[in-house]
Amino acid sequence: MKFKSVATALAMCASFIAFGASAETVGISMPTKSSARWISDGNSMVEQFTAAGYETDLQYAEDDIPNQLAQIENMITKGVDVLVIAAIDGTTLSNALENAAAAGIKVIAYDRLIRDSGNVDYYATFDNFKVGVQQATSLVNGLKERFPDQKPWNVELFGGSPDDNNAYFFYDGAMSVLQPLIDSGEIVVGSGQTGMDTVGTLRWDGAVAQARMDNLLSANYTDKAVHGVLSPYDGLSIGILSSLKGVGYGSGDMKMPIVTGQDAEVPSVKSILAGEQYSTVFKDTRELARVTVGMVDAMLKGGEPEINDTKTYDNGVKVVPSYLLEPVSVDATNWEQILIGSGYYTADQIK
Ligand code: BGC
Repeated sequence: MKFKSVATALAMCASFIAFGASAETVGISMPTKSSARWISDGNSMVEQFTAAGYETDLQYAEDDIPNQLAQIENMITKGVDVLVIAAIDGTTLSNALENAAAAGIKVIAYDRLIRDSGNVDYYATFDNFKVGVQQATSLVNGLKERFPDQKPWNVELFGGSPDDNNAYFFYDGAMSVLQPLIDSGEIVVGSGQTGMDTVGTLRWDGAVAQARMDNLLSANYTDKAVHGVLSPYDGLSIGILSSLKGVGYGSGDMKMPIVTGQDAEVPSVKSILAGEQYSTVFKDTRELARVTVGMVDAMLKGGEPEINDTKTYDNGVKVVPSYLLEPVSVDATNWEQILIGSGYYTADQIK
């Protein structure tokens, strides 16, 4: 009897250890389900963390800052081992991350930098400056192709959400290409509106972009055509295109302006195939998940996470060691090879 209870105790102990080992939990806090890319990010992480033997707790905050804070605090209380966070507002998490640090929880900033906190261990993202360079390069190529004899080109600029650190990198990357052409007079910003504090789009909201485009068109383009629009995200591009179509662009002799994008979301890929949106930037969320899982695994097992950038991402308190993946510019010429060829989408999803 005594032996039996010791055996039972040992068995319980063994299973507790086994449970403990396999039960390391990753809290994954994503901003919103309103954009397909974040759904892909979440799904890829759950799949890959599970395959690597982790438990996951995946939450979406529907672009509501208090909601995201509550979800993160809840994960901390429940005792997750690591937090992977794509912040809605990268400046609002300092207190929550202090609590995480006090509980010994490691933190990875996912895609978007978390600012104003020393308690961010690593940052997994894409080369965000390059995203902007690719958007503007594609815009200029499109202008040359569609409007070869109409210089100066009239262009309007849209930025991402001012509370998202990435938005500044996208904008600065784009302006590194566009500013010289503005200075030389080859591009004219018809409205005169430049700078992130003027052209930013809070919460990356497509309806806000559409309303701004409506205003830009009625205030500046009643007697001339707009030739291009720098849009940093597919969800904004769709709104901008609606506005343009609403006043007749894309029909009759009003050629559709060159409109860029980002994320290669299905409606935008379809729009590219329909000759409306000109381009997008593909960021393979499966790869971002892979890098993140690798970072977590290394941190929890006492190894060194793989990083390739230790200079770029100063969050106001520290330079966060980062891994930057390569974005890929996608348009009508290469979408099939990049998006279908990589298995990111099936042909059926697009056609
Ligand atoms: C991401 C982009 C995305 C945007 C809007 C940014 O932080 O890097 O891929 O288009 O947020 O969701």
